[in-house]
Amino acid sequence: MIRVGIPRALLYYQYYPMWHSFFKALGAEVIVSPVTSQAMLREGTARVVADTCLPVKAFIGHVLSLVSKCDLIFIPTVRSVRKNIYSCSKFLGLSEMTRVVVPEAPPILDIMVDVNKGRLRLCQAIYRLGKNFTADPRKIRQASRDAWRTHLNYRNMMSAHRLTQPQAMARVLGTPTPESGVESPEAKATIAVIGHPYLLHDDFISHRIMPRLEQANVKLLTPEMLTDTTLESAVMRVMGRIQWTCESEVVGAGAHYLRGGVGGVINVTAFGCGPDSLMTDVVRRQAARLRSIPFMNLTIDEHTSEVGIITRLEAFLDMIYRKQRARVAVCG
Ligand code: SF4
Repeated sequence: MIRVGIPRALLYYQYYPMWHSFFKALGAEVIVSPVTSQAMLREGTARVVADTCLPVKAFIGHVLSLVSKCDLIFIPTVRSVRKNIYSCSKFLGLSEMTRVVVPEAPPILDIMVDVNKGRLRLCQAIYRLGKNFTADPRKIRQASRDAWRTHLNYRNMMSAHRLTQPQAMARVLGTPTPESGVESPEAKATIAVIGHPYLLHDDFISHRIMPRLEQANVKLLTPEMLTDTTLESAVMRVMGRIQWTCESEVVGAGAHYLRGGVGGVINVTAFGCGPDSLMTDVVRRQAARLRSIPFMNLTIDEHTSEVGIITRLEAFLDMIYRKQRARVAVCG
């Protein structure tokens, strides 16, 4: 049985259930790298230039952890999943960069996903990918249909039931449900945490921001709990057009949650992320213009102190609770 390695980083959070379904249906064994650790981040950082963004450094660490455990490593090139809207340039060169900085890696399984090139080119790319496992085109077609169904189910589950990606993934794959994001009936506040999923849901990189808030009895809302339509119309409202796929995670979610229904919005950004530096500014200006909901930005890099994160979270929560008490006093 061919062992396919999948790094638990970057697009893993958005697409793993689909990839898992596809490779399993073709008879492969899927091996996922362990959760991020200090050693993985250190090793990944040592292989790339200093100004590479933190999530890509972590990604390289995940690839290194898979080197001796699989026959192939799956690193798709996801260029565009919506017409004329493109991924960040790091995603475009990810497989090529990995080949260069991890020369000892097993062969890399790549597929170019670009809907602008048309349906036929995408089908041909999927077929070429499937041919690594079977020569039967019907089996590949069926595997891709099942995988797409799995993806739609995963996506709908998050918006319909307000689940985080790790929670929805656990349901789809039948694994134990992670605690983060569990709604508490006695929540002291509702906070939207926005940012790329590979930052929010990687507890090592984010210093456990999500579980910490949850332990403080906070109800969490995240970008993936909104439908694509809601996110896109929010981006259009504040920017007029959509250029990057990741805009919906930051600008779309930020613009939506800043309109109400939450006590505060926390934006988690990666040091060294070009798109984040622009998008965070858009959300910050939107928050300043509306002036109704507290907004905090947390920028994370490999030197970020856990104590610093805890202090800022506590201060932010204190401010929200003070605002809530003041509102009660005025109404009362
Ligand atoms: S969007 Fe930012 S954090 Fe994500 S891969 Fe690109 S540069 Fe890195």
